[in-house]
Amino acid sequence: MTLTTRDHAMRMLGVRLRAAGLSTPELDARLLVQGVTGASDIEMLREPGTRMSDEEEARLAVFERRRLAGEPVSRILGMREFWGLPFAVTPATLDPRPDSETLVETALALLRETAEPRILDLGTGTGCLLLSLLHERADAQGTGIDISDEALAVAASNAARLDLSARVSFRRGNWTDGIGGRFDLVISNPPYIRRGDIEALEREVREHDPLLALDGGEDGLDAYRALAAAIPDVLTQTGHAVIELGEGQGEAVRAIFEPAGMAVLRIVPDLAGIPRALVAALPRG
Ligand code: GLN
Repeated sequence: MTLTTRDHAMRMLGVRLRAAGLSTPELDARLLVQGVTGASDIEMLREPGTRMSDEEEARLAVFERRRLAGEPVSRILGMREFWGLPFAVTPATLDPRPDSETLVETALALLRETAEPRILDLGTGTGCLLLSLLHERADAQGTGIDISDEALAVAASNAARLDLSARVSFRRGNWTDGIGGRFDLVISNPPYIRRGDIEALEREVREHDPLLALDGGEDGLDAYRALAAAIPDVLTQTGHAVIELGEGQGEAVRAIFEPAGMAVLRIVPDLAGIPRALVAALPRG
């Protein structure tokens, strides 16, 4: 045992991370101390005087160095909370963003009247979108597609942790290639960063998110062209597609989806007010 309490270690780490100019130093410090000690939120509050072991202190020092070198907390811990659920993240998967919870919320509202919905997630990554939906809808079945075998392994491990494996299947594929049948909901957070903008992204993103999950081609819209061409063949007549947008891409994506034979019903803003989720369907009648 050292003389350092968890609470003291957290506060001192918070001060150092703040001095280094990180944007959420106190939160980062708490999550890293919890990561090395295994303390829950409630234990952190109720038992501030608990001492840290030498081993925990040593691991925290390593975590601190990694954080100061620009590695996101989720990558250090290998874990990120999304929709209130724990998701493993690895170098092969995009780190789930709170912005993407807008898609989950939008999709749940659209599925409210549909019993036993079938859900298709294109570019599933950690599986965070699909698994959050399956967690909320015990009658739903899901299919998650990704081009990366490593990402699919992460998604499958997340399904197992959330006890959702029985209702989901993951398979490797290029968007909808080889998929049979139609789905009540098609959801996707595709790569949408303009290739030329990737160098200017913040270090946490540029150095730690997989390029495959970011790079949307020259104009950032390549994946939307592929999705617009593919989705009409896998959507039911009453189904919806909910697609994440990059900042400022709403009208450009609408101009890709409509000529491809889809009706764009609305564009839903995220909590920051940025248009984030495009809702599309097959034209009625
Ligand atoms: N939302 C990510 C970002 O912060 C990009 C993810 C994507 O391309 N889908 O830049």
